[in-house]
Amino acid sequence: MKFVDTHAHLNFRDYNRDRGNVINSAFQNGAKFIINIGIDQKTSEESIALAQKYEKIFATAGWHPHDAKKYDEKQLLELLSHKKIVAVGEIGLDYYRNLSPKNIQKEVFEKQIKIAIEKNLPIVVHDRNAHQDTFSILENHKPKKVVFHCFSGDFEFAQKILDMGWFLSFTGTITYDKGRSFSIIKSVPEDRFFVETDAPFLTPKPFRGKRNRPENVRYIIEKIAQIKGKNPNEIAKITTENAENFFSI
Ligand SMILES: [Zn+2]
Repeated sequence: MKFVDTHAHLNFRDYNRDRGNVINSAFQNGAKFIINIGIDQKTSEESIALAQKYEKIFATAGWHPHDAKKYDEKQLLELLSHKKIVAVGEIGLDYYRNLSPKNIQKEVFEKQIKIAIEKNLPIVVHDRNAHQDTFSILENHKPKKVVFHCFSGDFEFAQKILDMGWFLSFTGTITYDKGRSFSIIKSVPEDRFFVETDAPFLTPKPFRGKRNRPENVRYIIEKIAQIKGKNPNEIAKITTENAENFFSI
């Protein structure tokens, strides 16, 4: 099975002891490519450094809502000029932890959306407990390529996103959410979703509780295949194609 992990944080210190092994193991065990996600200046730089070192790692740059108060537009523009950058993100709103004030989160989200549109780059969205505001800010600007990473909304919210032409991305949470996402997965069109680990977080069953790693994306694929009544290889193939199209890889 060949698959893509569209959202990992392999630069995090969780991998300081064995980063090279984790990355090599992912590619040996089926990863076609990995997208390493930035959440602020430092981690975006680290993502680019990983992408420079490994041909099949690509990077994103952006200021996560937690770090919105440290947003630096000049730095973002410089980061986005790197040739292995494939998206702006992860950006959005987080009203669960509210580590930056809401008004600043919204302002910084909006600024980064405008830059993504200008640069013709897709947007990786982080939305936690902020569905309505996240959607309406995006709707105002109508970027073409948007993915809601680790989709956590309900069925109606999923339909609103799909109606805009945007994408959903699923993590290991679908292996332990007791069916909450099943109707969404069942009905999501085959060309409008992909898969991700969000490693080191959100490890799927049967490894829940342990540190996550990109090859665990296969357990998410297997769960989706089971829900959709398809062969896992088929889900691996379509999610790979969707990711290639979305990120222009
Ligand atoms: Zn993430």
